Amino acid sequence: MSFDPASFKGRKAAVIGLGRSGIACARLLCRKGFKVFGTDSRPRKELAGSLSRMGRGFSWEGGRHTDRALSCAFAVKSPGLSPSLPLLQRMAQRGIPVFSELEVALAFCKAGEVIAITGTNGKTTTTALVAQIFKAGSRPGRKVRVCGNIGLPASAVALETGSKDTVVLEVSSYQLEDSRYFRPNAAALLNITADHLDHHGGMDRYLDAKARVFEDQRPEDLCVFNAGDPLTLKISRDCGSRRLFFGPKGGPAHAWVEKGMIRVSGVTRRPLSLRPPKLPGAHNLENSMAAALLALGRGVKPAAVQKAFRSFKGVEHRLEEVGVIRGLRCVNDSKATNVDSTLVALKALEDEKGRILLILGGLHKGSPYSPLRPLVAERVKGIFTIGSAARKIEEDLSGSTSIFPCGELKIAIETAFQIGSPGDLLLLSPACASFDQFKDFEDRGRRFKELVSAQVRSRLKP
Ligand code: ADP
Repeated sequence: MSFDPASFKGRKAAVIGLGRSGIACARLLCRKGFKVFGTDSRPRKELAGSLSRMGRGFSWEGGRHTDRALSCAFAVKSPGLSPSLPLLQRMAQRGIPVFSELEVALAFCKAGEVIAITGTNGKTTTTALVAQIFKAGSRPGRKVRVCGNIGLPASAVALETGSKDTVVLEVSSYQLEDSRYFRPNAAALLNITADHLDHHGGMDRYLDAKARVFEDQRPEDLCVFNAGDPLTLKISRDCGSRRLFFGPKGGPAHAWVEKGMIRVSGVTRRPLSLRPPKLPGAHNLENSMAAALLALGRGVKPAAVQKAFRSFKGVEHRLEEVGVIRGLRCVNDSKATNVDSTLVALKALEDEKGRILLILGGLHKGSPYSPLRPLVAERVKGIFTIGSAARKIEEDLSGSTSIFPCGELKIAIETAFQIGSPGDLLLLSPACASFDQFKDFEDRGRRFKELVSAQVRSRLKP
């Protein structure tokens, strides 16, 4: 069942969770004439600033979820809130329908087409690339709106989107899990690995959430899958819409990599050979193939794909080249908030054997660091640990390379500049969350860039 605004006309909506997407959705509903009651467990003081200009029709509570929300006709749940939240259970008992921010936003959005990207890793990069391709191929008067998990909530762009516009949407498993009805015209499922399992309560539930991306699609819609990823391939069998695959050459693949080029067959009239974007690593080739298939499958011209590939520079904080500073090539991969992502980074830097100065650490997420051992032994000259995970990292990786406990990012950078020699690569790819020392991974990445840039200046001082 989809969210039908007309059936709730004149009724009151509850918005549970007043983060960025909750606030955007509350605003959207107010603009459409609904009365909205917002509720959040964070203290009132913390919320007041961002809620000060909500305007008429909006009331709210902070500090806890009381039963006031139970007088509403329907509710909107912010992604990331646990489904076992007592308020949600009380709503279920009373038969109050709960929708996701995403489906409410899309119900008000006139977009000509919706392109959705999901997967455990690579969503933001692929979303940004898909948007660039559609922009390169779009006709005058048609806008491309990029939203979802990538920053701007879908609710914030819904009403500005015209019927000829394309919405490119990054969707997380949280948003999918909460959506009763979600029908993108084209979707991509990049990969599925164990992440967020604690939230979803096991692998099966996580797979179910990811399958929501195509479940409501119709045969004329399109879904792109990674044929090289066993779980994604498995789940693709349940998909009834048009399926396109990227992955190893042969088998079901419509796109694969051959001699450094992306080959595409069976999608456009003639087979294609595209030069991929200049980004490091096999993972970025996968993201590029997914983006190409989504666009070509929707009729975007190959020339537009190639044009966007040429100009795409990647996304900030993902193996981002900061520059060569005092002989060290500095790379910001602050988005690597888990061990898998750091592994991906080390794999991508295959030409740097024994020359990587690696900053690891932050808030420990629970998984061991030992899977990094083989690549660390081969490619890493020294590890510089920071944050509360440092001890565990030192234990798990001891003996694989030299380890320098540094505590803080500034000290890690200074130590790396002392240890490193010209031609080495200084990499921030911490394998940990950032919240023990930074606001978020963006804050950590920006601080890294400031601190390495300051190394030039500090050297100039007498
Ligand atoms: P997401 O939005 O899903 O978190 P990003 O594009 O922000 O993905 O990339 C985050 C990290 O995930 C990257 O720094 C990289 O380490 C890893 N990554 C990116 N693309 C892929 C991929 N296709 N397969 C595996 N890992 C990837």
